[in-house]
Amino acid sequence: MIVLRAFKTELDLNNRQKTACAQHAGAARWAYNWGLARKIEAYQTGQKVPTAIDLHRELNALKKGELAWLYEVSKCAPQEALRNLDQAYAHFFRRVKKKKAGKKIQVGFPRFKSKKNGLGSFRLTGAIHVFEKAIQLPRLGRLRLKERGYLPLDGVKVLSATVSEQGGRWFVSVPVEMSQPDQTHRLAFGAGQTAKPVAGVDLGILALATVSDGTRIENPRALKRNLGKIKRLQRSVSRQQKGSANRRKAVQQLARAHIRVANIRKDTLHQATSLLARTKSAVVLEDLNVSGMMKNHHLAQAIADVGFHEFRRQLTYKGEWYGCEVQVADRFYPSTKRCSRCGNVKPEFDLSERVYECEVCHLIIDRDLNAALNLECWPTASSAERHACGEGVRPGRPAVLDEAGTERRSTSCRYV
Ligand SMILES: [Zn+2]
Repeated sequence: MIVLRAFKTELDLNNRQKTACAQHAGAARWAYNWGLARKIEAYQTGQKVPTAIDLHRELNALKKGELAWLYEVSKCAPQEALRNLDQAYAHFFRRVKKKKAGKKIQVGFPRFKSKKNGLGSFRLTGAIHVFEKAIQLPRLGRLRLKERGYLPLDGVKVLSATVSEQGGRWFVSVPVEMSQPDQTHRLAFGAGQTAKPVAGVDLGILALATVSDGTRIENPRALKRNLGKIKRLQRSVSRQQKGSANRRKAVQQLARAHIRVANIRKDTLHQATSLLARTKSAVVLEDLNVSGMMKNHHLAQAIADVGFHEFRRQLTYKGEWYGCEVQVADRFYPSTKRCSRCGNVKPEFDLSERVYECEVCHLIIDRDLNAALNLECWPTASSAERHACGEGVRPGRPAVLDEAGTERRSTSCRYV
């Protein structure tokens, strides 16, 4: 099976290389904005809207005259930027179509790129060579990498390289085509060796994820902890005079703080989803109506911080690599109200209650763990069980699981 994967890693550039990269990013940004202006102009005057190919031809003619400075950068930078612009256009029209079909989405016309949001990025194609400690790119030459051996060396086809700047640091992202053992083979092999278990995962606000095997993945709360710092930096930005060097410095500091928060969050999510995708044969998640929950203002920041959508997205694509199926229990499944031992469903269970207490079998268990255990049962649950609304008592978990449930209960005590 040939899969497409991208690897992004930080570059270790000297000053000359930094300037060259900034120049390339500048050329890409300029070409994008110029192309966008040309498209808008053509549309407004009723001409045919030029494509990336038309624009590139036009740009080449201009290069001989007033745009001679474009010769200083690889021709790929403006060319690929124009391709991105075509993509942005295509996405825009796709959204317009969806909106006309009655979907509630924002259409969002492509916007001009501004240097205010960082130097941006550029993409290069052609002769790209990856070494253990460096990457060789057209025009820019050999660039050192901060992490050695991360980019794949053998058996891959490098398609392009995108260099980008964020908070003063430079990164390169390389999408590659690589072969990966077929999933069916792997599963058959895996079954003979160690059959991987099914897990239910409850995503939450207090803990990022509670797994039905008793693992609790804590939330880094990165945003909250760093919020004070961000607020302080925000204030210092607004105190500085507009256009001053000090303001620029403060803006950069603020950007770095934001990036740090985002990186901490990303790291935790990746570690959690990798762990699950590698060690489980199937993961059952709850179908959370995230956009509905986001409207609730108190929960909004916490949920945005956790990144539910991203969790599911990562788990799905990593599951394809490692042979882990992602299942989603629908929103009518009473995963929080149901007792994971006897199957009794409570009519009411308040969001503020952290401990689940069953009136029937007197199970006392952490709320999130109980939900995770219920989600684990989802694949084998009958449709009546899946849509129970709180009346009647259903048969509980099978005996084997019941025993495990008892064992898990004792481990769960430390969370209660
Ligand atoms: Zn019970």
